[in-house]
Amino acid sequence: MRVPILALPELLINQIAAGEVVERPASALKELLENSIDAGASDIRIELIEGGIKRIRVADNGGGMPAAELVLAVKRHATSKIRDLNDLERVATMGFRGEALASLGAISRLTVASRVVEAPHAFRLQVLGGDIGETEPTALAVGTVIDAEDLFFNTPARRKFLKTEGTEFGHCEDAAIRVAISYPAVAISLTHNGRQMWAHAPQSHEARAMAILGDEFAGSSLQINESHTAFSLNGFIALPRYSRAGRDQQFTFVNGRFVRDKLLQHAIRASYADVLHHGRQPAFLLFVTMDPALVDVNVHPAKAEVRFRDSRAVHQFVFHALNKALSASSAEISTPMADPSQFVSANMPSSATRDWPRAVQGQMAVGSEYVAVSFPQYVANEPNQIANRFYDVMRGEMANMPAAIAMRDDTVAPPLGFALGQLHGIYILAQNQQGLVVVDMHAAHERILYEKFKLAATLHETASQPLLAPIAFAIAPRERELLDDNRALFLELGFDFAELSPNEIAIRAVPALLERREPHDLLREMLDDLSLHGASRAVEERRDEILSTMACHAAVRANRTLTLPEMNALLRQMEETERSGQCNHGRPTWYQFAMSDLDRLFMRGR
Ligand code: ADP
Ligand code: MG
Repeated sequence: MRVPILALPELLINQIAAGEVVERPASALKELLENSIDAGASDIRIELIEGGIKRIRVADNGGGMPAAELVLAVKRHATSKIRDLNDLERVATMGFRGEALASLGAISRLTVASRVVEAPHAFRLQVLGGDIGETEPTALAVGTVIDAEDLFFNTPARRKFLKTEGTEFGHCEDAAIRVAISYPAVAISLTHNGRQMWAHAPQSHEARAMAILGDEFAGSSLQINESHTAFSLNGFIALPRYSRAGRDQQFTFVNGRFVRDKLLQHAIRASYADVLHHGRQPAFLLFVTMDPALVDVNVHPAKAEVRFRDSRAVHQFVFHALNKALSASSAEISTPMADPSQFVSANMPSSATRDWPRAVQGQMAVGSEYVAVSFPQYVANEPNQIANRFYDVMRGEMANMPAAIAMRDDTVAPPLGFALGQLHGIYILAQNQQGLVVVDMHAAHERILYEKFKLAATLHETASQPLLAPIAFAIAPRERELLDDNRALFLELGFDFAELSPNEIAIRAVPALLERREPHDLLREMLDDLSLHGASRAVEERRDEILSTMACHAAVRANRTLTLPEMNALLRQMEETERSGQCNHGRPTWYQFAMSDLDRLFMRGR
């Protein structure tokens, strides 16, 4: 028998809509906070009971609503925020769908109380399971108080999906924190079961961000301020050494709205790809601002997703801005950190580094003497080559250097200074203007090689070194497959193979960059990497993976004795290498100990 079509009753319609908008207390809270922001509030107070399940109360000092509009406010698709399609296409408010209060009215015991500045007193309105009551007078200062009690009391199936009070509270707190980060000029407080959890007075963006993310983040972050014709990107990103196990400190906002956006996530991750250890999560807090017409916020009922009109441009802009910040050479990034001990000083004055090596082109200190360093004319005309030549020249000059270098105070020293010696075959100790520099030689060398390899690969200049006697290599079927799938890549990098049998190949050529190293282990490790991380990823990512493994293999091993000139050469290369503040796995490569740090250690007043 055919079942006739019937229009659904209003309450059921609202309950269905509520399913999309209000999934749990946190989503209700988010909607209420957005309404307060849209109303221009400068003070928002949140009170939750039992994780918000029993009660969510949001009080604000915004513009309020006149008595006559209270009924409309709790009706579906009634809004003061947009009027037509044109408005919808350039929404500048947090809300616009006119669904939140109607949804809450359908699934909770809702009270809306509000007062506009012209009104002699406030009015309130109750909605109980969709039944709208009478508008009646009440006492309240200018602003609005929304109170939603007993969430899902009349939709028991939904109520069953709620988690424990603690979990629901945690989600509510996250929602409140996102608003707090995005609107630092608004005072905001959170109370749970009568206890105040936190409160923030109006603050600057930076102060609010650091208050929420903590001192450790504050001490390890870079500020981002980039703009492009159509967009701007502001906020803070953590240096790779401050990585996290989870995504708990990842905040992206588009025009003030917290969003989880795959495109932004991807751009951010890609900019960290080279400096962050696999499996670690970066921490960041980024605000993308653009003309509202360039981003569609009407994609998702909870407005947690957006769609950019020109997603490629947004991706590139974000990636380049962050990549630039993270790539700044060792001398510019403040690698030294508060950890392991607080006495490690902050960073080097960047002015000192920017003037270098120009400042020392004419003269440099070797021992206690200045040595004139001259460049052939053609080199001086090619700034890109100066660094390399400089290093060669210096190597020659330094060969005759005394074992320990005494630097004069007025010496213009390069940022990472001159080597003093090697510590237990692992660290290089160097003296620079600020004091002592300690370098993890393997980590630093690994980064230098990696950047060099990448550059060569990008320029398609990876030379191949044929082996006089090809080396036989036993290969499992799975490895074989990986090798075949990535053949072009291996060739590009300078490897060449010949097939001996289905389970044996011959390595005929290896990348010249590897110098005299045994290719066996390296190839095996590269295949392991590929199988672990999958061949499905972009060629460039796979390539970098392989290059990173190559760099690790080729880098100086612990316990190899280096001569002072070799150590100095390494320091000079670090200064010229992008991202040299971290090794390929995101660990720091060097620390600065300022004289004042050392003085403090020895309680030596200066
Ligand atoms: P939307 O925010 O999408 O417009 P809501 O259901 O959240 O829809 O709110 C409906 C209307 O009620 C809003 O457009 C706004 O005019 C009014 N309103 C809601 N909350 C507040 C508030 N805290 N202060 C002032 N007006 C409010
Ligand atoms: Mg709203």
